[in-house]
Parts: sequence; structure tokens; C-alpha cells
Amino acid sequence: MTLPNFLHVGENGNPSQPLIVDINAGGLDPPSPKKSPHKQDPQRAARRAFDLIKHRLAEQWLQELDDKICAGKIAAKTKATGGVKIVWSKNLQVTAGRARWRKDLDKNKISRGEETEERHVASIELAEKVIDDADRLRNVVAHEFCHLATYMVSGVKNNPHGKEFKYWGSQCSKAFRDQNIIVTTKHSYEISYKYIWECVECGYEYKRQSKSVDINRHSCGICKARLVQTKPVPRAASGKVSEYQLFVKENFRRLKAEHSNLTHGEVMEKMGKLYRERKKEAAVTQRSNIDALTHQLDVVVLDD
Ligand SMILES: [Zn+2]
Ligand SMILES: [Zn+2]
Repeated sequence: MTLPNFLHVGENGNPSQPLIVDINAGGLDPPSPKKSPHKQDPQRAARRAFDLIKHRLAEQWLQELDDKICAGKIAAKTKATGGVKIVWSKNLQVTAGRARWRKDLDKNKISRGEETEERHVASIELAEKVIDDADRLRNVVAHEFCHLATYMVSGVKNNPHGKEFKYWGSQCSKAFRDQNIIVTTKHSYEISYKYIWECVECGYEYKRQSKSVDINRHSCGICKARLVQTKPVPRAASGKVSEYQLFVKENFRRLKAEHSNLTHGEVMEKMGKLYRERKKEAAVTQRSNIDALTHQLDVVVLDD
């Protein structure tokens, strides 16, 4: 379902996600600039090393959680269906992880007229683009594990972040605090995007992992207003003064005085954050609708 001249933000085909409007015809994301494959980048090397071990790491960690927090019940209940599947997703963007669970009956046994027990089918989907280190991986898996414990051990299916989830979360946080594990109902580990553009009118943020938004071609899909890049803060464009630049002008001296120990770059990072916060306040109603939506997308329960 591709609409000409429109670009989707967020999950594939989810019509509730705001769109970026392409001002020109064409409707394709501008190609991201090619990166040199020979560039030696320690961050990328670390990422590659992590990619090699992350699946094994996720499986081992899930087992450790289950053993310690649920006395192995999650593994026992999913044994007949091959255990909890860990699935790495390229498309998952609105949240770092997602737990899926459903009950199933053995259709072969049914067709033979044999008695059959309910089987648990469970998986944890992990966002490949978001989970880029072991710490984040462990926190995301712990959060999703608590969803599975809520369904499969507590038997609660209609309240994903309720009392039972909080109970399992606190058990994890207590047991693994020394390993930097904190499970909350909010996703403090939520996607850290490299690039953020913001609408100058409604304040909606368009977050991307690559520099895929061209402010000369794209405008806000909600209100059609102009977008400005707020992360990383772009170097001043010649001529026009943006809203952000005005904001910098008004606030730089105060911020610099308040944080005299910080470098210029660090102050500017704070500036960008402050600016985004201000804009966020201005768009609070709009955003709360969007938050409610992304929150819903965190878990999928199919109970039959
Ligand atoms: Zn807008
Ligand atoms: Zn959740």
C-alpha cells in the first residue's frame, strides 16, 4: 500500500503513524550517502563483534532469567513448541522489543482423535537496529520476559504493564541489579536515533537511523509545516535563520554560564535536548495520542 508522494515513518504500513510529505513528486526516500567500506571505525567494529554473539547471548540470558525468576516455568511450558523463539527484526522500529504469546492445540493429535493439552507458543522479537550492545539487549529481553511471565505464569492477558508485570519486573531488577538490569513499564532503553528532525509547527519528531530526511524535500505529515534537524544539530546554513538558531541565540549564554565546566559541544548537546523538550511540551496532546499508540504496539497477545 504505497501512496505516491508520501513516505511512511515508523512501522510498515501502519496508517496511524504520521507521514512525511514529499514536497516534490517521486515519493522515494533520497538515497543515503554511500559510506566508505574501508573506513576503520572502532564503534562499527564493536557493533560487528556484538552482532556475531547477540543471538546466543539473548538465548542464554532468557534461560538465566527463567531459571532464576520463574523456576524454569517458561521453558517447561513452551517445551512442546520448541521453546521461546528469539526473532531479530529489521522492521521493528516503534519499540525495541515485542513479546508474542498464544495458546495452541496439537492439531495432529486432534485429527487422530487423541486428547491434547494446550501448548504455549511464545516468541520475543528484537529490533536489530535498536539493540546495539549487550547491556541494552539484556534490558530489552528482561522486559519482554516479564510480559511472557505475565501471560504464562500469572495468566494475565489483558493488562500488559499492570500489577503482575510490575511484580515480575521488580523480581528481575532485584535479582540482577548488580548487572545493571532495571525493568520498568516505560522503555527507558527506547530507541536512540542518530538523527531527529522536528516539525516547526506541531513539534512532532521524525527519528531516523540515517540521514534520510531532506528538509528541502520533506515536510511534516501532520501539519505540512517545515522540518528542522535537531539531532545532531546542523551547522548554521548560510542565510536563513531557523527557529532553532534563534533558540540558541536566546539561550546559549545562560546555558554556558550554568554549565561552565562543559565544552562547547556538550553545551550544544544540552541545547538540542532543551529545545526538543520545549517543543515536546508544546505538542503534548498530539504526542500523548502517538505514545498511546506505540505503547499498544509493544505486545501482541493472541489468545485462542
Ligand atoms: Zn507538524
Ligand atoms: Zn512492555
